[in-house]
Amino acid sequence: MNLPQAFLDRMRKRLGENFPAFLASYETPPYKGLRVNTLKISAEEFARRAPFPLGENVGGDPACFYIGEEKPGADPYHFAGLYYLQEPSAMQVGSMAAKCKKQRVLDLCAAPGGKTTHLAQEMAGEGVLIANEVNYARAKILSQNVERMGIKNCAVISAPPEKLAARFPAYFDLVLVDAPCSGEGMFKKEQSAIPEWSAENVKMCAARQRAILGDAAGTVAGGGHLVYSTCTFSEEEDEWQVEDFLSRHPEFSLVEARKLYPHTFRGEGHFCALLQRKNGETLPQKPFPVQKNTQAERAFRIFAEDFFAEPPAGGITTLADGRMYLVPAGMPDLSGVSVLRLGVELGTWDGKLFKPAHALLMAFGERANRKLALTREEAKKYLRGETLQRDCANGWCAVCVEGFPLGLGKSVGGTVKNHLPKGLRLVKEQ
Ligand code: SAM
Repeated sequence: MNLPQAFLDRMRKRLGENFPAFLASYETPPYKGLRVNTLKISAEEFARRAPFPLGENVGGDPACFYIGEEKPGADPYHFAGLYYLQEPSAMQVGSMAAKCKKQRVLDLCAAPGGKTTHLAQEMAGEGVLIANEVNYARAKILSQNVERMGIKNCAVISAPPEKLAARFPAYFDLVLVDAPCSGEGMFKKEQSAIPEWSAENVKMCAARQRAILGDAAGTVAGGGHLVYSTCTFSEEEDEWQVEDFLSRHPEFSLVEARKLYPHTFRGEGHFCALLQRKNGETLPQKPFPVQKNTQAERAFRIFAEDFFAEPPAGGITTLADGRMYLVPAGMPDLSGVSVLRLGVELGTWDGKLFKPAHALLMAFGERANRKLALTREEAKKYLRGETLQRDCANGWCAVCVEGFPLGLGKSVGGTVKNHLPKGLRLVKEQ
C-alpha cells in the first residue's frame, strides 16, 4: 500500500517503538464487522440462523461480530434489517454512549447511519433520537437505513450544525459528533482516501471539527453528555481537539477517552471521547405540532385493524401532500428544519384511499395478520422486484423471509404484486 511519506513520518514520531507493529497492520485485509439489530432479533437467535460464519464478538459485545469475506449486504436478512455492517472499531462509539441518559439524543453528523442505528438499539424504543446529516444526498441514505432497521423513535433531518445550535439550546441529554475527518483509519478499507491525505487537509479537518464541536456544545443540556469521535489518528483531530474544546468550554469535563489503533485493537482504528456538561440549565422545546386529518386517520385505522393483530398506536400527523407519520412521543417541534423522516411513515392518503408505506412494514410488519412466508431463495426473487404466484388471501400482505418482514405485496387471485420500492431492490451485481 502506497501510504503518504509525510503520514508515515508523523506516525513513526507518534508511535515510536510501536511503529513497526502499526505498519505491519497494513499487511492484513481490513477488519469487517456486523452488529445484530436487537430491535428485530436477539443476538443469540441471529447467531443460530446466520447464513454465513460469524467470528468472535467485538469488544465482548454479544450483538457485535467479526465477519469474513462474504457479501452480507446482498443477503435477504440484511434487507429485513436484521443487522448493520459496521467496521469493528466504530462499534466502540455506541458502546461508550451506552451508560449515558438517552431520553433526547442528537446525532449531529449521522450519515450513513452506523452510529445512529447503534444508538437506536441502545435506546430500545425509548426517548427521541434526532439524526442529522448536513449533506442532503447522504441524509437520504441515512433515512433508508433508519427505515430498514425498523427504528420507530427517530427523526431524520438535514441542517448545518450552527442552525441546530440556535434551534435547540441546552436541550439534549446526549449529543454525538462523529466528525468528518482526514480518515487515516480508512486507508485499508477505502484506498481512494490515501491520495486525499495531506497535512493541510488534517489542519482543515481540525478547523471544521472545532466549529462543529462549538455548535454541538450549546445543544447539550445541563448534566448531559457529548461524545466526540473520528476514524483518524492525528492528535490535531483527536486528543488536541478535545483539549482545545475543554479550554473553550470549562462547563464540560472529560469522562473517558479511547484511542484504538489497528495494532492494539482488531479494527481499522477510531478515537472516541466522552464529555459531560457539569452544569447549566436544561431548556424545553415546544412539542411537535401534530396536524390532524380525521378522514385520513379513519382510513388508516380501518386498514390497520384489518392488517395488524395489534395496530400501531400514537399521535398521527398528516402532511399537506397526504403523507402520514406516527410521531414518536416526546418529539420536539422541528419547524424550520428540513425533515426527511419523522418516526414511522404510515402511508399516504389521497383523499379517497390509504396506501401503506414500506416503512410501516419494516417497523411493525411482525404484527401483520397476513404474512407470505418465503424461503431465502424465493426472497431473492421478491427482492429483485419479481411478481410472485402464490395462493394468498386477496389484499395487502407482509412478504417475509423466514418470518422476518421484507416488504409489502398485494395479492389478487393468486398473483402477488411486488410493492418493494424500486430504489431498494436487489440489483444483479450484488
Ligand atoms: N456517523 C456516521 C456513521 O456512523 O455512519 C458517519 C459520519 S461521517 C464520519 C461524518 C459526516 O459528517 C459525513 O456524513 C459528512 O457529510 C458530515 N459532514 C461534513 N461536513 C460537515 C459539517 N461541516 N458539519 C456537519 N457535518 C458535516
